[in-house]
Amino acid sequence: MPELFIDGQWRAAHDGGTREIRCPADVSNVIEVSEATAQDAQEAIEAAKRAFERGQWRSTPAVSRGRMLADLADKMEAEIEEVARLEALDTGKRMVEARIDINDVISVFRFYSTVADGDAGRIVDTGQEDVVSKIVHEPLGVCALITPWNFPLLQTSWKVAPALAAGNTFILKPSELTPSTAIWLMGALDELGLPAGVGNLILGDGGVVGPVLTESPDVDMVSFTGGLVTGRGIAASSAATVKKVALELGGKNPNVVFADADFDAAVDMAATGIFLDSGQVCSAGARLIVEESIHDEFVDELVRRAGAIRLGGPFDESAETGPLISAAHREKVEKYVENALEEGAELRVGGGRPTDEQFTNGYFYLPTILDRCTSGMRCVQDESFGPVLTVETFSGATRDQAEDQAVKLANHTIYGLAGAVWTRDGGRAERVAARLRHGTIWINDYHPYVAQAEWGGYKQSGIGRELGQAGLDEYREKIGRAHV
Ligand code: NAD
Repeated sequence: MPELFIDGQWRAAHDGGTREIRCPADVSNVIEVSEATAQDAQEAIEAAKRAFERGQWRSTPAVSRGRMLADLADKMEAEIEEVARLEALDTGKRMVEARIDINDVISVFRFYSTVADGDAGRIVDTGQEDVVSKIVHEPLGVCALITPWNFPLLQTSWKVAPALAAGNTFILKPSELTPSTAIWLMGALDELGLPAGVGNLILGDGGVVGPVLTESPDVDMVSFTGGLVTGRGIAASSAATVKKVALELGGKNPNVVFADADFDAAVDMAATGIFLDSGQVCSAGARLIVEESIHDEFVDELVRRAGAIRLGGPFDESAETGPLISAAHREKVEKYVENALEEGAELRVGGGRPTDEQFTNGYFYLPTILDRCTSGMRCVQDESFGPVLTVETFSGATRDQAEDQAVKLANHTIYGLAGAVWTRDGGRAERVAARLRHGTIWINDYHPYVAQAEWGGYKQSGIGRELGQAGLDEYREKIGRAHV
């Protein structure tokens, strides 16, 4: 049975506790793993602290640290079928999706394998001949990296790659629902020679081990990706020790379609934007905001396409989307749709579980469209994190009025993670994109991202940035050294 990884050793939990991981597509048994106790978490922190103080990793030249990340990317590429299979079994997502995710993970490790080289700091012009001042980059120290279940290894790579590139030590706490690829990752880093204690793995319940990490005075940074409510709690519990906190939280992302958009492309990507991975994507295009004059035609076509989406498990090659992660999560989505209907939304398609016998064991939910929504409704404001699209409309007697109304609706949310604008008018695309208060705006597209470009949110979608150069800067301090 796989164990916890602490101070370079695979270990069982102190109390011998374990957890069974089951595939959400059919509830088949995937793996049984150790379930860490608070004491295990504390020992992982101590191991990471000792390793940081020994200094072996942070004094390793950046180019050599980068080489290990590049070797890791090569190993992952060679074993991609196995890594994707682990991810698909834990999450229930299709193999084709899991392969795309792991290819993205490889790109992230490749990107961070080179960015820390040749960027040791800078000499400051002090204006005084006898004073030399330089700013050097130093790692933060011990980082607690807490990740969700929807893109388990991808979200982990956004943290582990820059944390290691910058010379930190870390404790990784993946979602209790999806530990398999984190176990693979730690095994691979160990095999590649990462010094003991630099990387530690704690599996288990966030409510049990999480506070040990966030409250510890020996943890210098918490980088968290997950839900808003958990994120607020993490920010609060980290405050007493004034540690650095980076938060990647939820989204309620607007997909704004003007009447002059390329109709087929916009319908296609409106469907992909929300139904990919059954909507369990932080940047899912969950709010369609469509110009009134094309509403009927656009939504009719979307309803037709949503109704034709084939559901299936990881190894069903005809499947176009998969199950939800758990029974509890499906119940949450069901409740959300029930509330929406009580609020007056019009159910156009979906709105329940598939009835076909092959889906009875898994946590499937039909692609769902809720029409005639308005921005005050809870279904438009709350993240469902399921395959549920809400539809709002806008109109205006003049060009400016239409744009103003679309922007007003799109920004009417506590979140600000991502969104899109669809129009054939390049000027309008730029004007509207510039006014949307969301961290990533796609123009005539939905969902693509690259490791080189910063990712993160406005407002309650989070604090800080992952990916790109800023994603590395999150994991290092700029320290001044001056002498005469
Ligand atoms: P979650 O908040 O339930 O759990 C995330 C992680 O936090 C898990 O590892 C969990 O064990 C841990 N945790 C739970 N309680 C904790 C505590 N008290 N202290 C410390 N850790 C604790 O989120 P989830 O359901 O796993 O993920 C879905 C959410 O993640 C959605 O809201 C989604 O939008 C968000 N998400 C955001 C991004 C982004 O880039 N902004 C990416 C992926 C997912």
